[in-house]
Amino acid sequence: LAPVSLPSNSPPRSPVTPLHLHRNQVLRIFVADEASVEKVKELEELQELQLDFWRGPGSQDVPIDVRVPFASLQAVKVFLESNGIRYSILIDDLQALVDEEQTQMISHHFMPRSVETFNYASYHTLDEIYDFMDLLVAENPNLVSKIQIGNSYEGRPLNVLKFSTGGTKRPAIWIDTGIHSREWITQASGVVFAKKIVDNYGKDPSLTSILDNLDIFLEIVTNPDGFAFTHTKVFLLGLLSRGREAGGAGASSNPCSETYRGPYANSESEVKAIVDFVKSHGNIKAFISIHSYTQLLLYPYGYTRTRADDYQELDNIAKAAVAALSSLYGTQYRYGSIITTIYQASGGTIDWTYNQGIKYSFTFELRDTGRYGFLLPANQIIPTAEETWLALMTIMEYTRDHPY
Ligand SMILES: [Zn+2]
Repeated sequence: LAPVSLPSNSPPRSPVTPLHLHRNQVLRIFVADEASVEKVKELEELQELQLDFWRGPGSQDVPIDVRVPFASLQAVKVFLESNGIRYSILIDDLQALVDEEQTQMISHHFMPRSVETFNYASYHTLDEIYDFMDLLVAENPNLVSKIQIGNSYEGRPLNVLKFSTGGTKRPAIWIDTGIHSREWITQASGVVFAKKIVDNYGKDPSLTSILDNLDIFLEIVTNPDGFAFTHTKVFLLGLLSRGREAGGAGASSNPCSETYRGPYANSESEVKAIVDFVKSHGNIKAFISIHSYTQLLLYPYGYTRTRADDYQELDNIAKAAVAALSSLYGTQYRYGSIITTIYQASGGTIDWTYNQGIKYSFTFELRDTGRYGFLLPANQIIPTAEETWLALMTIMEYTRDHPY
């Protein structure tokens, strides 16, 4: 959820090879009670197992997904079984899945000459996405501009697309994808959203009226260092991007948790850039941060059980957005406040934006529910983006129709 610490800002400290994924499994652990959660946390402490938690451990209501290196498989399974903790094998051989994805990517690598020839049904590298953004701006100069809100830790530009039909400091909607770099479906969806905005302006009356009243800011690759890193050969998909060494006591390994510590220090330039931008803009009315996976739409708070002042309104919006999303393919989303839907997570981005006065603050966790996890097949990019777009439209329309 909360990008206070970000993964992978510099190359790995120790050499890794793709062989590390050979016969790795992703296990889904069902924790029936708090005692089981604590047991799994014990497992997490055992650094020699080199476990990579994709989700949790959090509360007992949410199954835990963990990548287990081949060498640790037997130990982990024996530990779970001896403690009476149920699990299933979510992904049987991670390398096979990665190979498939990589083959698909390589076959689609070419530089498009226009946004029309860009392959939206494929995952892309950082350069390709940045090229796409430049093409989009070049082809739609009256609607789209690119602003740089800062630099990443390694000095890459933090580029944001601004969709605007004029005015100065109009009320605005912020959307970010890819703050957690291995949540690849999010950057891929961000690209589709950008294309949809330019395609629909002037054609779809609703989107047109949104842009006639509000600006939209879209940061597609919010963590470019991490994203570039997940595309390196030895580091495909960032699956190994979370070295254990930087996680101190009490740090969570959930990539979407605010207590999650990336493997490298000083990884917060990207978040600070957003914070500075939001503050200096001063007129952001909706803030939507997009993550994966689990299929959730969440609103504040994460840090307290006290309901947000606008709880009922936010809940109504979320309900409508999820219904719109599901209307396309029947994809089921849960929604609610962060703390009641997942678990306590203090210091989250949308808690911060909400407390800054941005009432319509939401976080998505996109597809899927764990069948593929971070390795969502590319053929789900467009369906995921299309259904999510309907939910985004619901939130944006509401923002347009309910100014404050
Ligand atoms: Zn995330």
